[in-house]
Amino acid sequence: MAAVSNGDASLIIVMSPTAAPGDLERLVERLRTSGAGVEVAGRAPRAVLVASGEPGAVPSLPWEAFPGVERALSLTTPFRFVSRDYHPERTIVRVGGVPLGPGGFTVIAGPCAVESREQLGAAAGAVKAAGAAILRGDAFKPRTSPYSFQGLGRAGLDLLAEVRERFGLPFVAEVVDPRDVELVAGYADLVRIGSRNMSNFTLLAEAGRQPRPVMLKRGFTATIEEWLDAAEYIYKEGNEQIVLCERGIRTFEPRTRNTLDISAVPLAQSLSHLPVVVDPSHASGHRSLVAPLTLAALAVGADGVMIDVHPEPESALVDGPQALTPVEFAALMERVRALAAVR
Ligand code: PEP
Ligand code: MN
Repeated sequence: MAAVSNGDASLIIVMSPTAAPGDLERLVERLRTSGAGVEVAGRAPRAVLVASGEPGAVPSLPWEAFPGVERALSLTTPFRFVSRDYHPERTIVRVGGVPLGPGGFTVIAGPCAVESREQLGAAAGAVKAAGAAILRGDAFKPRTSPYSFQGLGRAGLDLLAEVRERFGLPFVAEVVDPRDVELVAGYADLVRIGSRNMSNFTLLAEAGRQPRPVMLKRGFTATIEEWLDAAEYIYKEGNEQIVLCERGIRTFEPRTRNTLDISAVPLAQSLSHLPVVVDPSHASGHRSLVAPLTLAALAVGADGVMIDVHPEPESALVDGPQALTPVEFAALMERVRALAAVR
């Protein structure tokens, strides 16, 4: 994996034993004309051609359709601006006044959804007192069933803004519709794109054209490269302030809501300069797993976590089983501080 160089393009073409005289030369000529460096190993007809160069220099053509080609393998990673080759230093994203990135461990916490002034206020007061730096709470919820609670919409954003003033906590909120990007970005300090929308390219581009930082959750069936390609959609529109969030992927294991891909954290950090946080709540779906997974995220080098906290999980309209109570969250923060001190 580490051998794949981000941004630069490379291509390996294996010629067929039945290639006609001249097939290899035509390919070499085609690639050199567009600016690629080309080397040939072996001898015609069974030769192997290796081309490399800047992305445009190795065009993505249907190489296996060219005469005499048996196999073509492109080693190009399409993401460029979010790659560490492009930007070797790791990025620190500022959310309100809060830095999120290398050297820190930023805790984001709050309810899955904004339900009422009382609920949000109680959650915000509790997470602030326990040491969280950023509040979470959604006004728009992407629900699997159209009959489930969809969020309070603009009224929810008003409550979030009110609570931000009251507690001095910047907040993150999800946007699910490209038409609402301006609305959500007008309120939130960090605009979130959820797992179900990671491949909504219109939404990604809209998020890239507004000035707030963006949190991009990994799609639950997305590879790490697809996730970074999605981040590239945002970056390429001009928004460089992106936080990646690993939230678990769907596997064959039914006992957890998702399977937390802990290896994705150091891997994404090595491929990309963007900060990577973990959502242990949506990854596991169970309150009892949130603390161990938070500590795992800290130990593995994540730049932060986002944790569901509800003042009364049993009455939560969304995701009650995975929400910590304020008391559980405060106890977890003690353990986070102890482990952070020796990280
Ligand atoms: C959430 O964080 O509330 C959420 C909907 O998560 P995900 O997009 O990861 O499912
Ligand atoms: Mn949720």
